[in-house]
Amino acid sequence: MTTLTCCNYIDGQWLSARETIESRNPTNNEVIATFPRSDSADVDVAIASARKAYHSWRQVPAPARAEYIFRVGELLLQHKEELAQLISREMGKAITEARGDVQEGVDCAFYSAGEGRRLFGQTTPSEMPNKFAMTMRMPIGVCALITPWNFPVAIPCWKAMPALVCGNTVILKPAEDTPACATKLIEIFAEAGLPPGVINLVHGLGEEAGKALVEHSNVDLVSFTGSSQTGAFVGETCGRTHKRVCLEMGGKNAQVVMEDADLELALDGAIWGAFGTAGQRCTATSRLILHSDIKEKFTTMLKERTSKLRLGSPTDPDTDIGPIINQRQLERVKMYLDIAREENAKVLIGGEIADEGELKNGYFFQPTILDNVTPDMRVAREEIFGPVVALIEVSSFEEAIAILNNTNYGLSSSVYTRDINRAFAAMRDIEAGITYINGPTIGAEVHLPFGGVKQTGNGHREAGTTALDVFTEWKSVYVDF
Ligand code: NAP
Repeated sequence: MTTLTCCNYIDGQWLSARETIESRNPTNNEVIATFPRSDSADVDVAIASARKAYHSWRQVPAPARAEYIFRVGELLLQHKEELAQLISREMGKAITEARGDVQEGVDCAFYSAGEGRRLFGQTTPSEMPNKFAMTMRMPIGVCALITPWNFPVAIPCWKAMPALVCGNTVILKPAEDTPACATKLIEIFAEAGLPPGVINLVHGLGEEAGKALVEHSNVDLVSFTGSSQTGAFVGETCGRTHKRVCLEMGGKNAQVVMEDADLELALDGAIWGAFGTAGQRCTATSRLILHSDIKEKFTTMLKERTSKLRLGSPTDPDTDIGPIINQRQLERVKMYLDIAREENAKVLIGGEIADEGELKNGYFFQPTILDNVTPDMRVAREEIFGPVVALIEVSSFEEAIAILNNTNYGLSSSVYTRDINRAFAAMRDIEAGITYINGPTIGAEVHLPFGGVKQTGNGHREAGTTALDVFTEWKSVYVDF
C-alpha cells in the first residue's frame, strides 16, 4: 500500500512539516502514514489562526454554523467505507466496529446540527416591574481538542461538532498512533466548506504539541480524552493557566451477573464488552462479578465462547478481535498477566501474546479470562486496556454492587437480572456515569450524556445536550423598559 503523507491543517491550508514521524499498521507493522512532528511554533500559528477566525465565526448565526456540520455528516456517510477501512488498518479494530466508529460521527453530526436551532436560553420573571430577565449561551473561544487513538473518528467528532455549532473555533491534536484517520476526517470538514481557521489540525507528540496547546495562554478551553495519568497533567496545567477543562479518562468497568439473569444474554454482553476492540475501549468490561449460584455454569459458557473467537486481520470480515495498538501497549497487557500470576489469579484461557502464523508481525494478545480474582488485586483495580477479563465471585446482590463500586474509576457498569427491584436499586446505587440493565458496558448513544465519576472525569459530560454546557458560557441579561 502507498504510504500516506499527512499534513497539518492551519488557516485553511495543508502545511507540510520540517520533521516527520511514521504511523504503522498494528496488524503487520507496515507504514501507513508519515505525519508532522509539530513543535510549539506550529502550535502558535494554529492558535493564531483559530483566534482570528473566532471573531467572525461566533457572529455566524448558530443555525448557519449547524448547516456546515450537517454537510460534514453527509460527507462522512459518503466516505464511510473508506474511513472504516482506514481505521481498521491504522488502529486495528475489526471492520464492523470501525464502521460503527464512523457512524458515531455521522450520528453526532446530525444531532449537533439540530442543536444549532435549539441553543436555548430562558426568560424568567424579574423581581422588578418593567424589566425582563433572561439567559443566553455564549461561545467560549479557542478550544484545544486532544484525543486518543481508540475511537479515532468518533471522539474528535464528539468534541469538534458541538464546539463549532456553539460558535467556538478548534484545534485538534489527534493521537500519534492514528494521524491518517484524523487527516481524512479533517479533509471532510474542509470539504464541507468551513471558513479558514475555524477548524485546525496539529499533528505531533503528546508531550510536545499536546503539552504546548495545554500550556498556551491563548487557548480558552481544553477538551481531553485519554488516560487518567495524562488527564491529571492536563487538569493541573489548565487550573494553573485558568482554562476551562473537560476531562474524559480511564475506566475499570464491571458487569454483574445475578443468579436470576438470562445467561445467554449476559454471555453475549460479556464477550463483546470484554473482547470487542481487543478490550481497548474506555467502557470495556474488565471485571465480571458473578453470583456463586451461576458462577460455574457461566464460566464454562464464557470459556467455550472465548475459545471460538478469531484473532486476525481486522479488515477480514471473519475476524472477531484485531491487534493491540502498539508494542508498548502489548507489553503493558503482558505485564498485567505477570502481575495476575504473582497475585495467584488463575488463567482459565489465553494469557499470552499470540504470534503464530499470520499474527507474527502484529501485536496480538489472546483473549484472556482470569479466575479466582479478589477485589483487592491489582488486576481488579487497575485499567489494563487489553482483552483481559477478571472473574470475581459474590454471594449477594449487595456484595456485587459494593465490589462494583470499589474502584477509583466510574465510567460504565452493567447488571444482568430479571428482578425489577434489583434493577432499580442498581440504577440508584452504582457510582458510575453510565449504567446498563441487561446490556453490556459498551454501546453509548450520541444523544445521552457520556462520561464518568471519580478518576474517570471532572464533572463534565460529552454528547447529548450536556456537550453544550462544556462548549458555552452562560450570560444573564436584564432589560429595563
Ligand atoms: P493518552 O496516552 O493519555 O493520550 C491521549 C492524548 O493525549 C493523545 O493525543 C496523546 O498524544 C496526548 N498526550 C499525551 N501526553 C500529553 C501531554 N503531556 N500533554 C498533552 N497531551 C498529551 O491515552 P491513550 O493511550 O491515547 O488512550 C487510552 C486511554 O484513554 C485509556 O485510559 C482510556 O480509558 C481512555 N479513554 C477514555 C474515554 C472516555 O471517554 N472516558 C474514551 C476513550 C479512551 P500522543 O498520542 O502523541 O501520546
